[in-house]
Parts: sequence; C-alpha cells; structure tokens
Amino acid sequence: MINCIFCKIVKGEANSWKIYETEDAYAFLDINPANRYHTLVIPKKHYTNIFDIPEKELSAVTTVVKKVCKLYEEKLGISNIQIISNSGAEAQQEVFHLHFHILPRKRGDGQNLRWITHPEWVQDFDRMIEKLK
Ligand code: 5GP
Ligand code: ZN
Repeated sequence: MINCIFCKIVKGEANSWKIYETEDAYAFLDINPANRYHTLVIPKKHYTNIFDIPEKELSAVTTVVKKVCKLYEEKLGISNIQIISNSGAEAQQEVFHLHFHILPRKRGDGQNLRWITHPEWVQDFDRMIEKLK
C-alpha cells in the first residue's frame, strides 16, 4: 500500500527498531512509547484492521505477539502486559495497517487505560443477543 508507513517499515524504506520477525509478521518498537518496550506487531502484508485480515494471517500475527511477550518475560522479567488493537477511526485507530500494541506495565508507571462503564445496560443483554440471530 503506497503511503502506508508500516508498509514502508516492512520494505525497509522507513527506519524501525526490530524486535522479532517471521515470514508473515514483524515486531518493532513504537516510535511514541507509552512505556519501555512498547511494541507493535503487524502483518507484513497490508491489511487495514481486524475486519479485512484473513484468519490465517491473523494467527501468524498473534503467534508473534505471544513470542514477543515470552521474550520480554524471559529476558526482562516482564510479567504485566496489555495487548491492544484498534480497528477503525472511531475506535482510535490512527495507522490503518493492522497492528497489535504490546504495552508492558508496572506499578507506578503512570499509565491508566480505563473506560467508562455502563452497568445499567445489563438489562439490554437479552435483546442485544437476539439481534445476532
Ligand atoms: P493506533 O492509534 O493506530 O492504534 O496506533 C498507531 C501507533 O503507531 C502509535 O502508537 C504510533 O506511535 C505508532 N507509529 C506511528 N508512526 C510510526 C512510525 O513511523 N514508526 C513507529 N515505530 N511507530 C509509529
Ligand atoms: Zn500498510
């Protein structure tokens, strides 16, 4: 995909700090890290997000997510990690090449990824599930 920064990174046309790669997926450090070792894992082929990536290719990406988490556990002793993937502009996706964030966490790191909850919506659950039939 022309003008996709992550495609440029895969092709070596833009600089990146590689953590790990396979034939299908690439892991590298996020340029705006929220914590040390904040990492992105992407498919080498261009897919916009969760909606267009085929299951097999997604598996290749999540396999690398797991590898990188284990690498950080084994080499760095990291045992707290958030894995986040945004699909769509209204879901806060900014780079439209599918990616998983691996965000190592530790007590007192100053981060707080919390959302506003609506427990009153539990009363709608049966109707919500009905819509999926
Ligand atoms: P999103 O909001 O789409 O889930 O996250 C996009 C992420 O890509 C951001 O965390 C941002 O810092 C990162 N990013 C954007 N451009 C570059 C780049 O050129 N290199 C690297 N390594 N990360 C980038
Ligand atoms: Zn791309």
